[in-house]
Amino acid sequence: MGLARRLQNHPRLLAVGYKANLWIAMKLKFAIRMVGEKRLARWLSAPEEFTKRRIFDCKMCGQCILHSTGMTCPMTCPKNLRNGPCGGVRPNGHCEVEPEMRCIWVEAFERSQMMTTYKDELHILQPPVDRQLEGSSAWVNLMTGKDRVTPAGWGDTPRAGG
Ligand code: SF4
Repeated sequence: MGLARRLQNHPRLLAVGYKANLWIAMKLKFAIRMVGEKRLARWLSAPEEFTKRRIFDCKMCGQCILHSTGMTCPMTCPKNLRNGPCGGVRPNGHCEVEPEMRCIWVEAFERSQMMTTYKDELHILQPPVDRQLEGSSAWVNLMTGKDRVTPAGWGDTPRAGG
C-alpha cells in the first residue's frame, strides 16, 4: 500500500482536511457566478481526481460522502454499496466478490470509530447515487448543491423502526 493510501488509516487527520476543503468550497461559491460552473469544473476536476484517487481510490462519483463513511470511499465496494455491507462479508472480514480484499464497510466502521466529528454520520441513510453525476467534480457539485438533490419521494416513505 502506498503512502497516500496509508493516510486513510488516519481518518481524524483527513477529516480536518475535509473540513478545510468544505470551508474553502463554501467561500468559493461566488466563483461559480464569476467564471461559470463548466469552467470551474474544468479547473477543479483534475486536482480533485489526482488527490482523491491516490488517497481514497476515488471513482469520481460526483457525490462525495467520505466524511460519513470513515473517510473510506463506498464506491470502492465492488457492489458500490453506500449504506453498509451486503450479507456476503466473510468471517475474516473480507469481501465475497474479491476475497483478497477486506470489506470496505469493515474498514469504514473501524475508521469511523477513530473519528470525533463525523463518527455518527455512518448511521445516516444515504440516498441512491445519481449516476448522471459520475465523472463530475464532487467539489463543484458541493458548491452548486447538485450532490444533495434526491429523487422525488426520497425521505417521504416511512422506514422500519422509525
Ligand atoms: S467522490 Fe465518490 S467515488 Fe470519489 S471518494 Fe468521494 S464517494 Fe468515493
